[in-house]
Formats: sequence, structure tokens, C-alpha cells
Amino acid sequence: MNLDDIFDLVSYRIHPEPHIVVDHDTCASCSHRACTFACPARCYEWNEVRGRVDFAYESCLECGTCLLVCDLGALDWNYPAGGYGVRFRAT
Ligand code: SF4
Ligand code: SF4
Repeated sequence: MNLDDIFDLVSYRIHPEPHIVVDHDTCASCSHRACTFACPARCYEWNEVRGRVDFAYESCLECGTCLLVCDLGALDWNYPAGGYGVRFRAT
């Protein structure tokens, strides 16, 4: 299975407020921007024009990888409120 195929097996109920908040001031001193490589849902993207990481929480798979690779503590990471977020199905 290709990693992108996982999106055929999930659905979302998106909360109006993001469950992960990025501290862009902290990101400004980040040399590796590991979140942009590690997130399987490609929620993080370096924006050259704005000089910051753009973050889109809507397609988050709630895997926690970004929290692990962000060694500067720039993320306020929470699961979505009850009933919201990603839903996985087996087939
Ligand atoms: S790894 Fe952390 S500090 Fe670096 S750009 Fe991503 S969120 Fe910001
Ligand atoms: S929890 Fe996983 S899917 Fe969600 S933003 Fe972080 S790395 Fe991406």
C-alpha cells in the first residue's frame, strides 16, 4: 500500500478550531524544519514568501510524528475535541 492510499480509508469531521497550534516565532529559529518532511499528511509546508511554516490541520492523521520531530517545542499539540478529527476504517 502506498502511503497516499491511506486517504482512501479515512474520513474527517473537522472542528472549526485547530487542535495543533504552531508557534511561528519559535519556528523562525528552526534549522531543519523536520515537520515539513515527517508529516505523512503533508500538513506542514515551508512558505518562502512568508518566511514561515504554513500549517493546515484539516488533513491531520493524529499520528503524533510532528510532536516527536519538533525539538524546539513549537507545537501545542492536542487531539481534536470529542467526535472530531480523523476516522479510520478497515476496508
Ligand atoms: S520542526 Fe518544529 S520548530 Fe521546526 S519548523 Fe517544524 S514546527 Fe517549527
Ligand atoms: S499529528 Fe501526524 S498527521 Fe497530524 S500534523 Fe502531526 S505529523 Fe501530521
